Amino acid sequence: AKQSGRNQFMFFTKSLQEHAAELMETEQHLRNALELNQLSLHFQPLVRSRTGRVTGFEALLRWHHPTLGNIPPDKFIPVAEESGLIGSIGEWVLDTALMHAKNWHNQGQKLYISVNLSRRQLDLGMNDKKLSALLSKHQFDPSYLVLEITESLLLDNSDTTVIRLESIKDLGVHLAIDDFGTGYSSLSYLKRFPIDSLKIDKEFVRDLTSDSDDVELVTAIIAMARSLKLRLIAEGVETEEQRKILLRLGCEFLQGYYFAKPMPASEVQTWLTHYEP
Ligand code: C2E
Ligand code: CA
Ligand code: CA
Ligand code: CA
Repeated sequence: AKQSGRNQFMFFTKSLQEHAAELMETEQHLRNALELNQLSLHFQPLVRSRTGRVTGFEALLRWHHPTLGNIPPDKFIPVAEESGLIGSIGEWVLDTALMHAKNWHNQGQKLYISVNLSRRQLDLGMNDKKLSALLSKHQFDPSYLVLEITESLLLDNSDTTVIRLESIKDLGVHLAIDDFGTGYSSLSYLKRFPIDSLKIDKEFVRDLTSDSDDVELVTAIIAMARSLKLRLIAEGVETEEQRKILLRLGCEFLQGYYFAKPMPASEVQTWLTHYEP
């Protein structure tokens, strides 16, 4: 047993080293990604479950590197957070997302824009002043901006975090809790934060048609959201069956490949023209 433990340990340290080298390489490339125009945003529609009508889009970051190819956000966002690069990247995301959403508004389409905001961005200086400056720059109606923050942020229910979020919220923007159900938030946390909506993580949507436990869970989340007067969005809806169940359970908004995959900004108008609820 000792022998194999030792081998496992050696295997472990080696892969850690490799992992660390990979992270450093990613970070170096990521440092230049903004300047070299390798980052872009894709947009995925959110629809009202009852009518199928599009209410807005979520902005999702994409990184295309000339030799490494497309690097998925799950791989580079953690690196961006760790290195602090998420500060400048996150500002670029907000700036760019607001620019596109303003274009839609100018074309008569009053759509919401959802932007992911990571916890680290708050520490790196994304605050009410900065956000307010960006909103003014684009003359963007704050009530059409939704900031999605992950559930883990609720775990830090220190006064400073709550106050920071409250001053952002006071600009008139909406706050949503992302990946809801994967963390450990309790009702008291939810009450303490100035949030408007919850996004049920796609993990729970995935097995909705086969796993009755997940149906129970989603039913409970929906009941809780109702009692707290929070809007509810389900992400990762891929099938008609899932759509039907979520509609029946009373989930108001849906998002997922069933409606559309995230698309470049240049395709949004055409997609909207051809989309039939
Ligand atoms: P998220 O915010 O939970 O975004 C939803 C993810 O689910 C996206 O992955 C989206 O492409 C994917 N998705 C949408 N519909 C479906 C579906 O029907 N089935 C499945 N299996 N997946 C679906 P993506 O674009 O790879 O982003 C991954 C995560 O990276 C995001 O999860 C978010 O946490 C983070 N992220 C993306 N863009 C940004 C950003 O601009 N800023 C920050 N801070 N984080 C971002
Ligand atoms: Ca999100
Ligand atoms: Ca999610
Ligand atoms: Ca996620």
